[in-house]
Amino acid sequence: MSEYVSPKPPWLRIKISNGTLAANVRRAVKQQGLNTICESGLCPNRAECAGCGTATVMICGNICTRACRFCNVPHGKPLPLDEKEPQHVVSTVRTLGLKHVVLTSVDRDDLPDFGAAHWAETIRAVKEHATVEGLIPDFQGRTDFLDIVIAAGADVLSHNLETVERLTPQIRTKATYKTSAEVLKYISGSGVTAKSGIMLGLGETEDEIKQTMDDLLSAGCHIITVGQYLQPSLNNIPVREYVHPDKFEEYRLLALQKGFLHAESGPFVRSSYHAEKHIL
Ligand code: SF4
Repeated sequence: MSEYVSPKPPWLRIKISNGTLAANVRRAVKQQGLNTICESGLCPNRAECAGCGTATVMICGNICTRACRFCNVPHGKPLPLDEKEPQHVVSTVRTLGLKHVVLTSVDRDDLPDFGAAHWAETIRAVKEHATVEGLIPDFQGRTDFLDIVIAAGADVLSHNLETVERLTPQIRTKATYKTSAEVLKYISGSGVTAKSGIMLGLGETEDEIKQTMDDLLSAGCHIITVGQYLQPSLNNIPVREYVHPDKFEEYRLLALQKGFLHAESGPFVRSSYHAEKHIL
């Protein structure tokens, strides 16, 4: 297999219509001065998610203190938190009549509590109107900050491992596989549903994927998403492999066989895909 792969295969070269509902989400989010990873990540599932009354909103600004090599989010010195952001998210939820919201965020290693209090306030505010999944950063493994977020009462708390242990140092900055697994263990230990996601196509082996599934289950994580890494820009790490949809299906069945309660696996699967179905 050559170092870097050829153009996208046929199953990834499909025309994706986003439709009116996704356009409504885009407009409403923009009006509230918010960001959605759906738009910045050009997510192929926007229409489907919007059709299910689900959207993903990014909080804590749009500048990250980290620079993971797969991620297209701007990084550098973030702006101060917008104290009105929780209310802006609520307005978006109400405007769109969302039933389920996935909150995600950049990492705010610049803040004394890494953004934990802002996260908790936003979860509490949104929970009045919709069910909530918090796709949280690692808060550098600080359990005092995780406690603040957990106490806010999200229906699901997810934290992505993103890739297998061997590749983590190359792909993610500052985060470690061990800390992320400990964060998931802490979440599930507190009685909240824990979920995680990985991308394929970065050079991982099949055995490493199976090991990652086992590590997630031993951390008490019972929901997994498995998707294809796509290079967002030439500044990001290139794709090493386009995994065939049949292989994704094999991994989905394997994950369920291993004991996951929900497994979303496919070339276009992203962390929030079918998130509204992951409330146990
Ligand atoms: S921490 Fe998250 S938002 Fe920041 S660069 Fe990494 S993946 Fe992107």
